[in-house]
This record gives sequence, structure tokens and C-alpha cells, in this order.
Amino acid sequence: MIQVFTTGGTIDKLYYDANSEFEIGDSLLPELLKEANVSGEFLVTGLLRKDSLEITDNDRSLIREAVIESRADRILITHGTDTMPDTAAVLADIKDKTIVLFGSMQPARMRRSDAVFNLGFAWAVASTKEPGVYVAMNGEVFEAGAVRKNLKAQRFERS
Ligand code: ASP
Repeated sequence: MIQVFTTGGTIDKLYYDANSEFEIGDSLLPELLKEANVSGEFLVTGLLRKDSLEITDNDRSLIREAVIESRADRILITHGTDTMPDTAAVLADIKDKTIVLFGSMQPARMRRSDAVFNLGFAWAVASTKEPGVYVAMNGEVFEAGAVRKNLKAQRFERS
């Protein structure tokens, strides 16, 4: 069984025309996994609905507790990309689970989005990797503590 925790980020953003702002809506993850017809069991649990620039130390402790307390030993976490490496670093010493953080640069609700690709890729990483904490983005896997977002290039790289 794969436990999916959602924390917000661009992947779950929706656009409100009236005030021209993005807000974080209901996660599309259950729908996307259903559409993908994945055969493995999964459970999606919403933890936070925040842009990751607003995620606090307390929020990171909450994510950490949820991961530790989960009965699953394979865990996916959706997360905004700006501080994904920080949350990965907070989880890095959890040794007995395969924990994979991912998100997208464009909202899943947009037609041209990296969300579905990133979800499939992260699912594969979570299903097959040995225990550890990983960031899986745009076709690459990084170890927690050794990854940063390159804002200008809009992608992740080893640090
Ligand atoms: N500012 C957003 C966040 O970190 C960016 C993203 O998700 O890509 O939540």
C-alpha cells in the first residue's frame, strides 16, 4: 500500500478569475490515480493546503509525525517545489521507509502541466526504491539533503 500525503503547492492550485489569484484547491491526486488505473492500493490523506513558501517548522513537524505514524512503508508526499528540499531534509533521518516528495511547476488542473508525468514517475520511484528520502521531479531522483531548486532554470539539481 502506498500512503499519499498532500501538503499543497502549485500541483493543487486553481485559478480564480475574479480576483486573479491562485489558491490551493482540493487535491486532484485521488482522481489522477484513479484515471491512471494503478493496480496497487493507495490511501490519500490531506495534511496541509499551503504554498510551500508558507510552510513553517511546525508544519514540517506535522508532516514528519504523519510519516512516522503511517503504517505504510512506502510514502508519497505532494509538496510545493520552492521548499521541497527543506522538508525532505527534515525527513532525511527516517530510515525504514521509502519516502518520495514531488510536485509540479504547473498546476495539475492546467492542460499543459508536468503534474501527471511527475506523479507517475514518483509513483514508480516510491514503488521500487530502497528505504530513503527522495525528491523525484521532472524525470530525476535526488537524495534528501543533496538537492536544491534552480529557480531560474525551473528545475531541481544536485547540491
Ligand atoms: N511557490 C510554489 C510552492 O512552493 C511553487 C511550486 O509549488 O512550484 O508551493
